[in-house]
Amino acid sequence: MSGGNAIRGTRVGAGPMGESERGETAARLHIPYYCTNGHVTTPSFAADAEIPDSWDCPRCGLPGGQDNTNPPAAPRTEPYKTHLAYVKERRSDADGAAILEEALGRLRASREL
Ligand SMILES: [Zn+2]
Repeated sequence: MSGGNAIRGTRVGAGPMGESERGETAARLHIPYYCTNGHVTTPSFAADAEIPDSWDCPRCGLPGGQDNTNPPAAPRTEPYKTHLAYVKERRSDADGAAILEEALGRLRASREL
């Protein structure tokens, strides 16, 4: 295994959302978002669209804010988590043990019938 290239497919020159520049008949707002790593993302929104307070940086995945002097702090945990990681986070080990015990008990009971 080479494992040399850790850069995930970022393309220079593509629009923030990959949209084309043509056909912008409606007024668009280009709102810059700044992430804590110094990346700037400038997604465009319809003039009557609701502008979100934060925008995930397409380059590093961290949330970006509209204030370039005070970008949102990076979350303590990885931005990309599996569903299982979320489930594990929500349940304490004790809860998990209790749930497992209950399930095993039900399984044993059904087998004894
Ligand atoms: Zn970034």
